[in-house]
Amino acid sequence: VHLALSLSWKLTCVSCPLPQVDKFLYHLRLSEENLMDVSMRFRREMDKGLGRDTNPTAAVKMLPTYVRSTPDGTESGDFLALDLGGTNFRVLLVKVSANGKQTVEIENQIYVIPETLMRGSGSELFDHIAECLANFLDKLNIKDKKLPLGFTFSFPCQQTKLDESFLVTWTKGFRASGVEGKDVVGLLRKAIRKRGDFDIDIVAVINDTVGTMMTCGYDDHHCEIGLIVGTGTNACYMEEMRNLELVEGDEGRMCVNMEWGAFGDDGALDDLRTDFDREIDAGSLNPGKQLFEKMISGMYMGELVRIILVKMTKEGQLFQGRTTPQLLATGHFKTSYVSAIENVKSGLCYAEQTLRDLGLEPSEEDCVAVQRVCQIVSTRAAHLCAASLAAVLRQIRDNKALDRLRTTVGVDGSVYKNHPVFARRLHKMVRRLVPDCDVRFLRSEDGSGKGAAMVTAVAYRLAKQHIE
Ligand code: BGC
Ligand code: MG
Repeated sequence: VHLALSLSWKLTCVSCPLPQVDKFLYHLRLSEENLMDVSMRFRREMDKGLGRDTNPTAAVKMLPTYVRSTPDGTESGDFLALDLGGTNFRVLLVKVSANGKQTVEIENQIYVIPETLMRGSGSELFDHIAECLANFLDKLNIKDKKLPLGFTFSFPCQQTKLDESFLVTWTKGFRASGVEGKDVVGLLRKAIRKRGDFDIDIVAVINDTVGTMMTCGYDDHHCEIGLIVGTGTNACYMEEMRNLELVEGDEGRMCVNMEWGAFGDDGALDDLRTDFDREIDAGSLNPGKQLFEKMISGMYMGELVRIILVKMTKEGQLFQGRTTPQLLATGHFKTSYVSAIENVKSGLCYAEQTLRDLGLEPSEEDCVAVQRVCQIVSTRAAHLCAASLAAVLRQIRDNKALDRLRTTVGVDGSVYKNHPVFARRLHKMVRRLVPDCDVRFLRSEDGSGKGAAMVTAVAYRLAKQHIE
């Protein structure tokens, strides 16, 4: 059946449903002109977030991270890292040695955070994190060593120093009570002290974008941007201190966690958002927030496709107008399906299988149409990312007063890494929107894990230098 389907669909293309789908999803297909306009708007949002007087009302918060330098290769030691806010919660032991060439060794363990804890009470969540840490230290037999720890906490935080970080608002799948507005380092220290069976030295809290930039910066000294397109989306970059009006001092640079997922929360994207986007937002844990993120990231991409398929079916454009309970159930179309369906070779077969698993009886045309829906949704996501990234590149170029900027972007995240063509579409559009930049994209290997350890290691090295 599968083979027959993939061979015959080309022949039946006379009646192929693509023009209908394209027409139906007209508002999701953004022209290069639209994207350039989004890029300009985003650049203005950046300025607004950086300015002292405009920051309080800015949607894109441009948060200072207190990370001022990237690794120089002389760091060494054993570090612990926690990674919360990505696809998995993990605890890591990172061994950095600097004998000649710096090497990094990692032990890591994934722990499950039940949904009830993600959305329950904050103190229970932090007790659970401390318990996972204890279990990890036990397993490696290092409970008696007071190791330095870096905490990758991938949510918007107001930082005042490297080891103090107040959660502004939960995003993605988290909504634990009593944490917003609190210092997450304080909460973690309290949970550990309460147990009393081990002690650690929490040195740094970082965002996953920062970890990504740091791990790539280690291999490529031009790396000054970190990008995540995974469960959520966001980016950070090295900004001139003189432009960071919220932080004292004009010398040197500091990494800024942009929190670009909140772009549009003040209505700035209302003309581009569709009914599908509004439906996603209305059904989310945080309505009215992270509107840009909801058009892009993995937490929402599959659901966006599902909502579109339901609408098209109800209008008689798919599956002979027949929906099924599975198709109608929230969350039943995973973002990983989008990736699989867009695979050039096996995509159509996969589409057929997926749709059957949802209780549907797809025709060949249905499978082709569903593949097209996936393409349109994921292309819009890649292109919107390209638009905001282009604005960051222009900002850096202007900061350095260069005609041509040569730079590297460190990237991580499940959508970027697992989708067959997302990365390629993103790269291509960035190069079209900023032809005067030579951009290298570097996949980060475990930015959020290793990165936290690297920031901790740099902080340690700098602290030692101060004493010496
Ligand atoms: C968070 C960011 C994070 C991004 C990627 C967003 O929801 O607000 O802090 O960097 O997801 O994980
Ligand atoms: Mg991560």
